[in-house]
Amino acid sequence: FSERVEVAGQGREIDSLVAAFNTMAGRVETVLTEMRQVNDNIAHDLRSPLTRIRGLAEAAVVNGSVTGEGAEVAGSIVEECDRLMLMINTMLDITEAEAGLGGLKLAELDLGELVAQVVDLFAGVAEDKGVALTGDSPGRVAVRADRRKLQRALANLVDNAIKYTPAGGRVCVTARPAAGRVAVEVADTGPGIAAEDLPRIFDRFFRSDRSRHFPGNGLGLSLAQAVAHAHGGDITVGPATGGGSVFRLVLPAVRAA
Ligand code: ADP
Repeated sequence: FSERVEVAGQGREIDSLVAAFNTMAGRVETVLTEMRQVNDNIAHDLRSPLTRIRGLAEAAVVNGSVTGEGAEVAGSIVEECDRLMLMINTMLDITEAEAGLGGLKLAELDLGELVAQVVDLFAGVAEDKGVALTGDSPGRVAVRADRRKLQRALANLVDNAIKYTPAGGRVCVTARPAAGRVAVEVADTGPGIAAEDLPRIFDRFFRSDRSRHFPGNGLGLSLAQAVAHAHGGDITVGPATGGGSVFRLVLPAVRAA
């Protein structure tokens, strides 16, 4: 809704329609901003009670006030609190990334090196699942980015690719220059994305019906996209050659001085 309509010299009726549309678009934008702020405040406010609940459950096990089945229940409470806390923190990270460049610690880095790091990080998970994970880059691929945030975005793409690809499949992560920009591609041999899900996979909390028996909270792609946008880039997705999907994270290249 940041779009505004401009139509010059079309007569009074069109002028007033355009004015009404622009006022409406302005209001929708304000409401969306307020909703995001409310979400953010709720997320912040949930952290303290959650930390307290977790602390009480953990203490009950540690000091022996619950044992046996009670200790198991308390252990589950701790685990669920950790899951919720991760979700809340990811929501706050998304809002922070959506706030744009202000929240980024930018430095020049090599995208190929970042790919190698993320592939290393997931080597064990991929091996345990029986998925062949490889990383590749044609040499130095320079980008100006917030290392921690970009690594998290890429990690979410690789995590998904491994998660949704059945044993015996492949995940290839490639960094390369791309028409004046730079790109990282994460290609898998998994089930691909159903056409009806495509418009929604980057929405917060969206999970397709067939992914419900995999762990997840529907926030990974939202965060990855918010990080890409904050860097002036984008993420697109399409079918991979040989089946599966390929997620493409494109960023502005570092210009030669
Ligand atoms: P989560 O993985 O926690 O469900 P995401 O936001 O990371 O949430 O992804 C949203 C949805 O997009 C997933 O539920 C899944 O349906 C789909 N998806 C993402 N990556 C892939 C992939 N590599 N292959 C197939 N489907 C995917």
